[in-house]
Amino acid sequence: MRILIVEDEAAVARQIASALTEAGHDPKAVHDGEAALDEVSNTPFDLIVLDIILPGMDGFDVLRHLRSQHMASRVLMLTARGEMKERVTGLQLGADDYLPKPFAMRELVARVNALGRRYPEQPVLNLRVGDLTLDLATHDVHRGARRIELSPRELMLLKVLMREPGRVFTRTELCERVWEHAHEYDTKLVEVFIGRLRKKIGNPPLIHTVRHVGYTIARGPTVETSRPQSRP
Ligand code: CA
Repeated sequence: MRILIVEDEAAVARQIASALTEAGHDPKAVHDGEAALDEVSNTPFDLIVLDIILPGMDGFDVLRHLRSQHMASRVLMLTARGEMKERVTGLQLGADDYLPKPFAMRELVARVNALGRRYPEQPVLNLRVGDLTLDLATHDVHRGARRIELSPRELMLLKVLMREPGRVFTRTELCERVWEHAHEYDTKLVEVFIGRLRKKIGNPPLIHTVRHVGYTIARGPTVETSRPQSRP
């Protein structure tokens, strides 16, 4: 992937770049927000690793600008550890994932690769399953004309499901993708949030339970392949 690194600490930027190069990516580093916006207006990047604290315009400003220009690069934000507010702001502004500083390079590479696997095609600005839509730029969710208010966590969960309709996610997988430290949470939490989402989304149901496996979002009946089709 072509990756833009936006990080003002030159040594950290260099380390990230060399770790990503080693992992087979094509990174380029810049040291402030203005330079980042210049770069993305010239060439598209598949992914942007974006630090929040930058001289001049900060990472949130950069993200706001990217999303207002409908630039669809995936964004991995580097946040301060424990700063829940920063993470929530970043996600609300349209970041795809975040990594608290300090982090191990191995973890950064893993997150980058996961984002690459997660959306193999060109990212889209709207997700749609049946009459349910999620606008990735504004994070507005609608069922038909009805607007649905979601908490940031509910939104993240829905986003994960809607990125890959029909794919069955295990509870553990959802837990890892939506909650940072999966081990701190019981997968029961996933069930609770799925329940809330279902309630908010309403009928006919779109989120389906696939027995002994997990959950999937799809319009119409579930994708359980073992069940014989009774109708054409
Ligand atoms: Ca910084």
